[in-house]
Amino acid sequence: MSVLRQFSDAVPSSKDPTVQRATTNAVDWALAHGLVMKPAAAAIASAPSTDVANHGGLAQHAPFALFPTPFPKACFNQVVDLQPVLNQLFDRIARDHDFLARCIESVVTVDEFTAQLYKVYQQTRAKPSSQSITLGLHRSDYLLHQPHDSNDLSIYQVEFNTISTSFAGLAPVTTQLHRYLRENPAYAKLKAPQIAVHQTEGSLPNNTATAYLVDGLAKAWQLYGCQSAVVVMAVQVGERNVFDQLRLTHDLRQRYGITMVRQTLAELRQGAHLDPITQALVLNGTEVAVVYYRTCYAPADYASPADWETRLMVEQSKAIKAPTVAYQLAGTKKVQQVLTEPSVLERFIPNADDCDHVRACFTGLYPLDNSPLGLDAVRRALEAPEGYVMKPQREGGGNNVYGKDIPVFLQGLPVEEREAYILMDLIKPPVISNLLVHQGLAQKGEVISELGIYGVWLSDHDHVYLNESAGHILRTKVASSNEGGIAAGFGAIDSPALV
Ligand code: ADP
Ligand code: MG
Ligand code: MG
Repeated sequence: MSVLRQFSDAVPSSKDPTVQRATTNAVDWALAHGLVMKPAAAAIASAPSTDVANHGGLAQHAPFALFPTPFPKACFNQVVDLQPVLNQLFDRIARDHDFLARCIESVVTVDEFTAQLYKVYQQTRAKPSSQSITLGLHRSDYLLHQPHDSNDLSIYQVEFNTISTSFAGLAPVTTQLHRYLRENPAYAKLKAPQIAVHQTEGSLPNNTATAYLVDGLAKAWQLYGCQSAVVVMAVQVGERNVFDQLRLTHDLRQRYGITMVRQTLAELRQGAHLDPITQALVLNGTEVAVVYYRTCYAPADYASPADWETRLMVEQSKAIKAPTVAYQLAGTKKVQQVLTEPSVLERFIPNADDCDHVRACFTGLYPLDNSPLGLDAVRRALEAPEGYVMKPQREGGGNNVYGKDIPVFLQGLPVEEREAYILMDLIKPPVISNLLVHQGLAQKGEVISELGIYGVWLSDHDHVYLNESAGHILRTKVASSNEGGIAAGFGAIDSPALV
């Protein structure tokens, strides 16, 4: 860690006049180029116009890192190259009923939300949709791992997201912002963060995540084969990250002339029905070719049993789903844990080298059930919790239990409910200095970064139309070692500078 700190100290403070000019310039650039989000409800309430539907006419820049964060090129390329293998792996998992049933049935008795998803899955199996095309717009997330007192970095998968992967719209804009700042001679002397022995700024790889996801949506729409059909983006009520989403919407219209309609589940329930003969999903008289979910991943997304019925209606329709509920179940932490068990990857991936490459990104994952492995994991989590994170079957952040918090949490949990969680080795990313800009203010801090690689998959039974490694996102957040080893400060959107 001493080597890292030596370079970190070179990063200037937020009070440095050049940093202040760069911050002002960057904030203006972000606002001018739509690197923005809706403001929080409190800001809207105090706005001169408090029209909530139109968020008082306000937007604010998304939090961003002033400098791109250095990232080892070899690790980056390793996971970029891995993405097509992962896309295929998750398609095969989603189609393997016996495997999904084995994984998911172990958690449904103690996890109401996963049980509801599984019910939709089973009801759809009983009354299948006539649509065999599946669209995956995935993101595989990674952290670098730096063993204690070593500069050797490896890269481990945090999780594989199969639903509602965000920031494919804003990530490429962030790379453009970082390019813009680099190209400005006024800031050439600013000392960018560096890691370990790499004393170079690093290069900013091209990022066309938006275009890849839009190509996936467009190709799915074309395969559906109805010129007048629309794409529905199913959205949350009160979403702040709308501009990230709208980049996809606008790109889909501009490049392909396809309309994407935003719909909450309540709006879908009101306006959509299934054609009893064709199983087409019809929204206010217009056929729906693709339903793209930016909701439906958290319990709060389903306000009432009626919302579950709406999900079921879509699932049983002829529309192409991004994703299907089977894909969503394949993306659970439980499946991720079972994949690390001996011989399981081989069930899905025929090529031995591919298996090795996937496995190289796995860190230790353990069940918390009554099996010998599970009981051993419980014992270790109680005795040496610092090395672990405990995860429920949830998405969207803020659900995990870290390190020293685990014993109290585990002990307060009825034994039979442990199975709803998995245990994972804590990945220890290198900590470096950077300046994060939040609400116009730059703050220097010790930060860690999580890399996401997007994946686009489109197939019909065994025919694969698209299998792409589809761009990237870096999310950087303040790292502080509390009892759990990780405490999230505010997160910021970032881009990797390859060294
Ligand atoms: P979610 O689906 O809610 O995003 P994640 O598995 O991504 O769940 O966990 C949320 C966050 O917790 C991650 O973004 C990462 O910062 C942290 N985290 C998760 N797993 C680990 C791990 N094994 N080691 C270190 N940090 C982790
Ligand atoms: Mg997730
Ligand atoms: Mg995550």
